[in-house]
Amino acid sequence: MNISQFQKDILAWYQEHQRILPWRIKISNPYHTWVSEIMLQQTTVPTVISYFHRFLERWPTVQELASASLDEVLHLWQGLGYYSRARNLHLCAKKIVEEFQGVFPEEEAQLKKLPGIGDYTAAAIRSIAFNKPSIVVDGNIERIISRLFLIQEQFPASKRTIKKYAAKISSNEFPGDYAQALMDLGSSICTPSNPKCYECPIQNHCKAKDRNPDRYPKREKKAEKPKRYGTLFWIENSKGEIFIEKRPEKGLLGGLMGFPTSEWATHRKKVTAPFKGKWKKSPTLISHTFTHFHLTLEILEGTTNETLPGLWVNQKDFGQHAFPTLMKKAIKIMNHPTSSSAATGA
Ligand code: SF4
Repeated sequence: MNISQFQKDILAWYQEHQRILPWRIKISNPYHTWVSEIMLQQTTVPTVISYFHRFLERWPTVQELASASLDEVLHLWQGLGYYSRARNLHLCAKKIVEEFQGVFPEEEAQLKKLPGIGDYTAAAIRSIAFNKPSIVVDGNIERIISRLFLIQEQFPASKRTIKKYAAKISSNEFPGDYAQALMDLGSSICTPSNPKCYECPIQNHCKAKDRNPDRYPKREKKAEKPKRYGTLFWIENSKGEIFIEKRPEKGLLGGLMGFPTSEWATHRKKVTAPFKGKWKKSPTLISHTFTHFHLTLEILEGTTNETLPGLWVNQKDFGQHAFPTLMKKAIKIMNHPTSSSAATGA
């Protein structure tokens, strides 16, 4: 491959076709790049845009984010899923303020020591926010490189090979634009299926063009996600308030509010309710898909005035609490018992 011609072609295309995104402003701001990159992990650009605006409006600087409470951050994160990102974002803001006087470090090694920042995010911050040479490899870039060089190894075992090729062809002159150009190309032209090779600015450098590029990166068939089962307890008192509790900080949906549930087991088990009394089973089940498993919860509805270790909340005040999507599905079912609850997200 003629690397300098390749770089010229992709950068020329980017000048004309770059996406206008709120975190891409003329003067790069590492805080903006960092927040957007964390939000974009596992989430699409259209979804992230409105969250990014609200987040920046609420906490315009890393110092303001560091002073917020974790509950406030989780509350604003509601609906984005994968809440460990929000917890790490908050922790990372505190570290940047306490250990780096509020200034983002430029070196990848230092960035990677911060919570929630891995190889990719460190490289993205360094190249996009600081315009410093770095090898940025996200899912889009992995796909483009697998195709450009017709990599036959199975993905993800091929990640090391992909990174080697990425290092060979990356631009030291315009690192930020180059990384964003490949990301944009991957999202609009070199898409997972039906890539638009006929309008691709780097088609002359690509070995996969005319050779079924959809087949790259090569992947083994995905194993089916395992299933888990459990019970959610919807508990009401004589004032019509509903019982909610904070989930443990560590673990899935950690630190978020929710209704008590049984253990989520690999098979249906007999459950022990939080108190003795009459329980009514809802006719609708909650179906929810996490990254690593599908979850089905039945809902048991009960009434008590016992003291329980949590909060009694009027339903009209539910909006004041950070409920993950799974718990919002329970609320929807309990208010419209025949509604379907199947959806994906955390
Ligand atoms: S020519 Fe086709 S497969 Fe190759 S990089 Fe462009 S869009 Fe992707």
